[in-house]
Amino acid sequence: APARHVTVRVAPLGARMVLALVEDRTRERRVEAVRRDFVANVSHELKTPVGAIRLLADAVHDAADDPEAVKRFSDRMVLESERLTVLVQQVIELSRLQGDEPLESPLPLSVDDVIGLAADTSAIDAAARGISIVTGGERGLKAMGNEEQVVMAVANLVANAVAYSEPDSTVLVSTKPVDGSSGAFVEISVVDQGVGIPSVEIERIFERFYRVDPARHRSTGGTGLGLSIVKHVAATHGGDVRVWSVEGQGSTFTLSLPRADPRPEPPNHDSTDT
Ligand code: ADP
Repeated sequence: APARHVTVRVAPLGARMVLALVEDRTRERRVEAVRRDFVANVSHELKTPVGAIRLLADAVHDAADDPEAVKRFSDRMVLESERLTVLVQQVIELSRLQGDEPLESPLPLSVDDVIGLAADTSAIDAAARGISIVTGGERGLKAMGNEEQVVMAVANLVANAVAYSEPDSTVLVSTKPVDGSSGAFVEISVVDQGVGIPSVEIERIFERFYRVDPARHRSTGGTGLGLSIVKHVAATHGGDVRVWSVEGQGSTFTLSLPRADPRPEPPNHDSTDT
């Protein structure tokens, strides 16, 4: 057979274009690595509650003659399956958010409503341990964003503040407008008087699945995903999240979001048409 003759035309690439291509590949590879890592972590984390439920099911089976034990094991099965539910929900949220794509259609949202809804999600846990959640700061502020995501982020911060606090302490959720060179923001701070975070760990707490001393915190049954979700919500909103903490004294997490048009509402004209 005659040799096939193929001519490949190579368009001359400018150095900048080559660089852009290389960077694009690098980014693609990094995104892919992050995704693979995430899937591996998730599979690993799912095994714990699934394994526990499996063992507890066997235990219930073997304890059939002992109603006390059956109750104890099945209560733990309920706890483990709730943990599994939270983990799956958080994994779904995180996989949606982790591209850090800017929000498509941010809307003005009431910061008072957001912190009210977020505080409600921890009300039962807080009350059970005598922790009061109080709100303070400036009322009537509006942020730009997605209400569901912002409530979820603040709810995660409040849930942590409650989980890592001593009984009978106070969690403060406060709001403040901030005007800086980079624009108008609303700061939502969640302040607790809890265990605090060792300074060597503070860099890492926003990483997926990272937990400070899981043994010490086992009773809180966290997933290590909450702060990672908060970080990505901040990023998709063009805001940020900061933490300040003293071990043994407490922590302050501040979520900063773009403020909705800070000008006052236009006056509500009565119809003057003739
Ligand atoms: P978790 O589900 O473990 O709470 P997060 O991502 O929300 O996961 O938090 C990561 C880790 O950061 C926690 O395991 C805890 O060690 C630490 N942490 C988060 N919030 C607080 C807080 N308010 N006080 C003390 N430690 C905290």
